[in-house]
Amino acid sequence: MTKTISILGSTGSIGRQTLEVAEQLGLTVAAVTAHSSVALAEEQARRFRPRLVVMTGEAAAKDLKVRLADTGIKVHGGVSALSTAAALPGVDTVVTAVVGMVGLKPTLAALRERKRVALANKETLVCAGELVMAAAERSGAEIIPVDSEHSAIFQCVQGCTDRGEIRRLVLTCSGGPFYGLAAEEVNRKTREDALRHPNWRMGPKITVDCATLMNKGLEVIEAMRLYRLPLSRVSVVIHRQSIVHSLVEFRDGALLAQLGTPDMRLPIRYAMTYPQRAESRAEPLDLLSCPPLTFAEPDRGTFPCLRLAEVAAAKGGTACAVLNAANEEAVRLFLEDRIGFRDIFDLTARAMTELPVIREPGLQDILEADAAAREAVRKHFSN
Ligand code: NDP
Ligand code: MG
Repeated sequence: MTKTISILGSTGSIGRQTLEVAEQLGLTVAAVTAHSSVALAEEQARRFRPRLVVMTGEAAAKDLKVRLADTGIKVHGGVSALSTAAALPGVDTVVTAVVGMVGLKPTLAALRERKRVALANKETLVCAGELVMAAAERSGAEIIPVDSEHSAIFQCVQGCTDRGEIRRLVLTCSGGPFYGLAAEEVNRKTREDALRHPNWRMGPKITVDCATLMNKGLEVIEAMRLYRLPLSRVSVVIHRQSIVHSLVEFRDGALLAQLGTPDMRLPIRYAMTYPQRAESRAEPLDLLSCPPLTFAEPDRGTFPCLRLAEVAAAKGGTACAVLNAANEEAVRLFLEDRIGFRDIFDLTARAMTELPVIREPGLQDILEADAAAREAVRKHFSN
């Protein structure tokens, strides 16, 4: 079991919940990282006494150095310091809870050092899944998914030694806040509307991705990479209650699922204690009082981002990196109130149509595709 962890993105929704779990499990926190939340990073540093705190924002790093001057805790600044936190000697598990493809290089750094990666940062697997899985295979490092759907699948395939036995994965999807609305109505939705998720409280980027259903599209690609399955064997069903976290259909027709109340601390805890399970104080799901469980087909016409991600998944190569980067950039513009809801799809689709797909890309190809996609979105936005 994990004893010492680094948390990349400790001030975010997953990062804060990871610290709660770490406290309950009595884990040592060796490093935490944040971007600009200086006050919270200081509070976490004083409470958990890590060896290293990274602030990726340079001004924030300077500020934190002054604030922590009395503690002897090291403070590093800049994006490259994320990899220092990820590769820190003595750390056995790295929780990747930063948002966006900025998580890629530190994830690779952790895997090279053969550390277990508790992976929440799905963008990393979307943009460079093959490279990440190959790096894990080379060093023998484990990647344990934290994303609730992929953790559910991971729990369902325990004991399955032949991946050929899996007929298909079924990812459940809440449908987001605009489920059931007509396309014209959805397209008029604002940032405030999109930030209201019915079942989960998460960071702003993933909450918007849930509203467009891009999140489920990214998760389809994440599942394909983690379990090395083609698109035809990963499906999506709408499940409004977020109680069945995902399912695996095996070749004998058995369908296994993991159920529970929506609480990210369960998949986080499992990623820390796997292959064991630890005692938890969380209320278990009460089958007698939980609502009826319903399942429906996603509406890819009203929520075209899901189909767009499936197109990228089918194309492969750098298409997924382009999809991810264009979406990150478009969501950033949406969160700044500079574009409308529908523009997230339009700008991402346009970047995908314009940019070439490079087959079997290396890291440099992926970084270049990422930069080109961001540039394409910015160009069309300013025109
Ligand atoms: P948040 O926005 O709540 O937190 C993001 C974290 O990353 C913060 O610590 C933030 O620091 C840091 N960060 C932001 N920008 C940068 C940057 N440019 N460079 C380095 N660090 C940065 O996100 P979530 O916790 O919701 O999500 C984190 C990841 O986990 C995402 O990939 C998401 O898809 C995935 N995930 C999240 C779930 C959830 O329930 N929240 C569920 C499943 C997956 P600061 O506070 O200083 O800005
Ligand atoms: Mg998820």
